[in-house]
Amino acid sequence: MSALPEGSVAMALIVRGKTKCALCNVVIKDNDEVVATSHFITNKEDPLWRFSDAAMHKMCFLEWDQRGPFVEKFNRTVGYHHMNSDGSIVLRSRQETERPS
Ligand SMILES: [Zn+2]
Repeated sequence: MSALPEGSVAMALIVRGKTKCALCNVVIKDNDEVVATSHFITNKEDPLWRFSDAAMHKMCFLEWDQRGPFVEKFNRTVGYHHMNSDGSIVLRSRQETERPS
């Protein structure tokens, strides 16, 4: 295992050809587009818990009925990242991050 490059984000570990999509349970293949998050939900009672630190096909994610709440929760919980409604994750700008709470 090599160390993550500096500045990269620790996301769910995806082993293509092995890791299953959390939504359809089908193995994620080499050229599948994926949505993956870090472990941002710690409450196991949370119905969305098993989808944090998990990988999903982008197609499954886009059709997921919990996509809205999931994206909203991600953005409320993970201050330094922003998830777009299509599941892509971007770093927030410094200004946004440093906004007083
Ligand atoms: Zn899937």
